[in-house]
Amino acid sequence: MLNTNTPEIQFALHAVRQASILVQQVQTEMISPALTKDDRSPVTVADFAAQALVGFLLDQHFPNDSMIGEEDSSVLQTPEERRTLERITDFVGRFTEGATPESVCAWIDRGSSESAPRFWTLDPIDGTKGFLRGDQYAVALALVENDKVLVGALGCPQLPSPPASLIWGDGNNGSIYIAVRGQGAWAAPLNGSDIDFTQIYVSPQSNPTQARLMRSFESGHTNISKMDIFAQALGVQAQAVRMDSQAKYAVLASGGGEIYLRMLSKSRPDYREKIWDQAAGSIITEEAGGRVTDLHGQELNFGLGRTLANTRGICATNGFLHEHALKALRETL
Ligand code: AMP
Ligand code: MG
Repeated sequence: MLNTNTPEIQFALHAVRQASILVQQVQTEMISPALTKDDRSPVTVADFAAQALVGFLLDQHFPNDSMIGEEDSSVLQTPEERRTLERITDFVGRFTEGATPESVCAWIDRGSSESAPRFWTLDPIDGTKGFLRGDQYAVALALVENDKVLVGALGCPQLPSPPASLIWGDGNNGSIYIAVRGQGAWAAPLNGSDIDFTQIYVSPQSNPTQARLMRSFESGHTNISKMDIFAQALGVQAQAVRMDSQAKYAVLASGGGEIYLRMLSKSRPDYREKIWDQAAGSIITEEAGGRVTDLHGQELNFGLGRTLANTRGICATNGFLHEHALKALRETL
């Protein structure tokens, strides 16, 4: 059974569950058919509100810990965004005492820390485009100590919990994942309780031609033609599955796919991965038996600031296929 008996695990699970419920409420109440294509207000409200809620909970559980989060409140402090800040405050107030526009900005800015020997990193909504489209997105929270991820939690409101997620797209009750270094990776229904966690494992597939590939839904976040060359080098026929957010890591960790690549897009060849986009998902994959490196096989270093400044892209696999994938990448890149 998952040992939830440490304050870090209790905080991570509670914060991710609460933030996931909050963003689902924003989605239900603010995303309507009348929404114009360019209106990003639901994602703005949900992103900031979820980060404020996690900042508030961090103050309660670990007042001395720092956090590196994706958002900061500066834009919300302008007169033009006053209405947005009020809506954010309304949502946060459903989960906390004492939510005012000022306290909400302060909770959001808990996420503006620099790197420290120990810190939390948060992506309040990873996969914002998936959130708007009604596809996959995730709430991602991780604890980093001495450059390494020690705890990672992912809330995936659109991903059924395993084993159902092996045929993801089926069912729609959401799932939560947690991994603790040395203690395995675990999954449960998002609305379940701590006794519902079951341990998850990567797929045992070791034949590269049978590998199921995964990539970003957004073509601009990867390089499609390089993905095709990579697939040919491995001998894979099937097209890569397109999915938003760290839900890809959750699927990999529960055996629903074998290889997840983040190729560098043609338009952003210098792109460095953000730590909050990889921290939780990578430890969940590793603790399920998988491996995560950059595209050249380098280990990820989470202690270099807001980005993985030393490494390029991501190669995450079930472990059995990692050397095959790196070899195919050497032929591709
Ligand atoms: P995904 O859902 O896999 O497309 O990943 C979403 C994340 O990609 C977002 O949270 C962004 O931080 C990140 N992102 C934004 N632009 C790029 C880019 N050019 N290349 C790779 N990742 C990006
Ligand atoms: Mg993200």
